[in-house]
Amino acid sequence: MTTKLLQFVNQKKEMPKKRSGSIRLKDFNEIYNDFNKAESNKQAGRCSQCGIPFCQVHCPLHNNIPDWLKLTAENRLQEAYEISQSTNNFPEICGSICPQDRLCEGNCVIEKGFESVTIGRVEKHITDTAWKEGWVKPLKPVKEINKSIGIIGSGPAGLAAAEQLRKKGYKVEIYDRYDRPGGLLIYGIPNFKLEKYAVERRTKILSKSGIVFHNKFEIGETISFETIKNKHDAILIATGVYKARELDVPELNISNIIPALDFLIASNKKGLGDMVPEFENGKLNAKGKNVVVIGGGDTAMDCVRTAVRQNAKSVICLYRRNKENMPGSMREVFHAEEEGIKFSWLSVPIKFKSDKNNINIDVANVRLDKVDSSGRQIPKILFNKTYSLKTDLIIKALGFNPENLPRLFNYPKLRVTNWGTIKVDHDTMMTKEPGIFAAGDIVRGASLVVWAIKDGRDAAESIHKFLKNNVRK
Ligand code: FAD
Ligand code: SF4
Ligand code: SF4
Repeated sequence: MTTKLLQFVNQKKEMPKKRSGSIRLKDFNEIYNDFNKAESNKQAGRCSQCGIPFCQVHCPLHNNIPDWLKLTAENRLQEAYEISQSTNNFPEICGSICPQDRLCEGNCVIEKGFESVTIGRVEKHITDTAWKEGWVKPLKPVKEINKSIGIIGSGPAGLAAAEQLRKKGYKVEIYDRYDRPGGLLIYGIPNFKLEKYAVERRTKILSKSGIVFHNKFEIGETISFETIKNKHDAILIATGVYKARELDVPELNISNIIPALDFLIASNKKGLGDMVPEFENGKLNAKGKNVVVIGGGDTAMDCVRTAVRQNAKSVICLYRRNKENMPGSMREVFHAEEEGIKFSWLSVPIKFKSDKNNINIDVANVRLDKVDSSGRQIPKILFNKTYSLKTDLIIKALGFNPENLPRLFNYPKLRVTNWGTIKVDHDTMMTKEPGIFAAGDIVRGASLVVWAIKDGRDAAESIHKFLKNNVRK
């Protein structure tokens, strides 16, 4: 069955069916069902095959979107998959979790008047089909190259680089401090956005392709950076950013004020079947509690939505700006609202008081002032307009900064920017130290999976050029 193209006038934009707010709160599964073949064909057929496809321009990987949409509409899914996977290592993952409203779909030309093509979910359907049909296979490099690359960090940047390098025939070893590979794909992003089997099947096939994973292997702890550096012909640092930003208010050592990532990691580990003592003893568990999440980005949305699924008694998101000025994806805010989360906009905590198991928060209102260099209005705290909130658990979701890697790695030759990210030559992703490259959030600051994949691919290309032309001492 093939579908005609240019159907955007006759055919409405549709997403796959979404489970209702109340039903989906009963589990941690993906909130969307998958497209079936007919639905995917129909949606792909809405594309107008633009001469200058702005969707592609605004996809960080410059995916060849019009071509794979056309092939999907013509029911040529295997060819669509070949094209899709040639520019993206994990198309089904991006199809699920890219903020498409800010990237490809937000720039689709038919968006004006007809609503965009449903690009992300078609991308996911193509690669999910490829997995079902057995088209996704372990890599078989044409020739083996007797040079090895050590990658520190198995998040999307490290994994994408590993796959690209292994394809060329290099020996690749990935070191990660966690017990499972995947970085934030496995332990940060909740299951209801990205089901973990999708990450695990990827890391399994990379392992079958000959990539060696060393889990529970922390560089700077388990082994020194110097040792790893001397073992390999090139190194890629892809360690992400994990230092939680702190509140401006003294926390007075109150134990039920916790960082977002501790909460999310515990929940993800639990979902993966692990025994998590701090979840079992209630410290990192929202069950039966009045929960306040402080922050307004995607991490805050993941926390409120996790807390409500853990059967919290109530969940409030406290954010210092208003909805229009939120930094995260509007789609995620919409999902949180559908799931019954309450938002206190224009609110900041100014004081905590601990009383047995409860915390009293003094909250001040905020007025938004003129726009700053980031294009968002500056919040001004109104100390004379306050109210108070009683809560059992506060989750801090204010964003992340990089750790001091030169110190952790005991390697001062690594240079950092004013923001603490690793300094690289952006044309080559190489640091000032020959043969040492860096990619992903540790270079960009907290960003997106799709950008981490792009950086990993770019770094792999540069490492290849470097190793062709140089022998590192
Ligand atoms: P990471 O994924 O952070 O991986 C880094 C890895 O390095 C980790 O596994 C870590 O254990 C390892 N590591 C660190 N230090 C060492 C060391 N010394 N030795 C060994 N290993 C080490 N992006 C989206 O596009 N969509 C989303 O919906 C989305 N949701 C998010 C939700 C949350 C809660 C968070 C925190 C982020 C989210 N992001 C999302 C952002 C996205 O996850 C990151 O931008 C992306 O994972 C960065 O990839 P990376 O490979 O650079 O680092
Ligand atoms: Fe859109 Fe992300 Fe897919 Fe690019 S990778 S086409 S931005 S969903
Ligand atoms: Fe198709 Fe929209 Fe891309 Fe144009 S911008 S090629 S209509 S998906």
